[in-house]
Amino acid sequence: GSTIGVLGGGQLGRMMALSGTAMGYRFITLDPTSSSPCGQVTPQIEASYSDEAAARNLALASDVITYEFENVDAGVAALLENESYVPQGSTLLYTTQHRLREKHAIEAAGVPVAPYREITDLPSLVKAAEELGLPCVLKTATGGYDGKGQAVIRSADELEAAHTELAATGRELVLEKFIAFQAEISVIAARSPQGEVKSFPVSENIHVDGILHLSIVPARIEEGIQREARKLAEKLAESLHVAGLLAVEMFVTRDGELYVNEVAPRPHNSGHYTMEACATSQFEQHVRAICNLPLGDTTLLSPVVMVNVLGQHLDEVVKRTGLPDNALSEYGVVPKLHLYGKNESKTGRKMGHINLLCKDVQHALDWIEQTHIWRQG
Ligand code: ATP
Ligand code: MG
Ligand code: MG
Repeated sequence: GSTIGVLGGGQLGRMMALSGTAMGYRFITLDPTSSSPCGQVTPQIEASYSDEAAARNLALASDVITYEFENVDAGVAALLENESYVPQGSTLLYTTQHRLREKHAIEAAGVPVAPYREITDLPSLVKAAEELGLPCVLKTATGGYDGKGQAVIRSADELEAAHTELAATGRELVLEKFIAFQAEISVIAARSPQGEVKSFPVSENIHVDGILHLSIVPARIEEGIQREARKLAEKLAESLHVAGLLAVEMFVTRDGELYVNEVAPRPHNSGHYTMEACATSQFEQHVRAICNLPLGDTTLLSPVVMVNVLGQHLDEVVKRTGLPDNALSEYGVVPKLHLYGKNESKTGRKMGHINLLCKDVQHALDWIEQTHIWRQG
């Protein structure tokens, strides 16, 4: 069988490798941390993402290379593209690593993004905030995840502090209008190198403190909007010449308009629900797409709620999964727990997730509520 090289050794790579191994592929991981979540289930080259010699070794060991992490050095990705087969290409990585380049590419596809301005200094921020109106969100153009590297600005007297805080990162900045959304949703689309495109059902996403907390599928929004969202994600995958997955995060306004927030050229946390709830998981679909196999069926087999297990939830979750939980059967919920094997548990760190298969998403939401595990404060 062929060997797939994975740049990045996090949980996304781990779940991709577990899924792809079942399909008969071998994997090898490049990651700087020893015994990374992915490196626990595959051989691992332990080196920095910008180490060219290590990247060459990965190329020698692999028939196909993919990435599970966007902040891989684009230069190294370009080197790999020359010396190996990287179906996703390095251009997509380069585009999605930078919020301004990403927004330009989305707009070029004819898809709307929230109004935004490039920020170069404090006066440009003041001017942009006047043009866009408050509230708005100041974000670093690069390096952000889980809501890190952003500040919501609600009044003019917060502009300077927000600028000082984010300018200290030394990164370029972008200001976005704050969208008063009725819901946040995402769609994961897959495209094969020959141009076959398929999308997964819409996930409704709830974030807490900038981190994904729940994905609810089917999403509780009008079906017409869901069809539109899937079409839009498929259109973006085509326009960006994706090979593999493209996760598209969107806001749904109260009037039912869609704005793209950001995209990711890889499996996505909001697609973990597909592991048990869809005919094909996002990880299998990604492997299929990069290996030029026909794409799998994306039909939803069961309503599902995915809840993330962060460091502060882990002990309680592990304690309870060993016990018969009468409440689960009372609520008609079948829980599928996935843990990522991370060595250190920290507040806010993603340690695992649970897919709660159910007859109606409200049953799973009720179960989550009554466990108190995810209750705040
Ligand atoms: P991720 O972990 O998804 O990559 P990130 O750090 O790149 O996160 P964003 O997705 O840009 O950050 O923002 C995190 C969350 O903050 C969003 O899911 C949304 O809840 C909120 N948010 C971001 N931008 C806006 C906006 N323009 N209007 C309203 N809410 C926003
Ligand atoms: Mg992001
Ligand atoms: Mg996001």
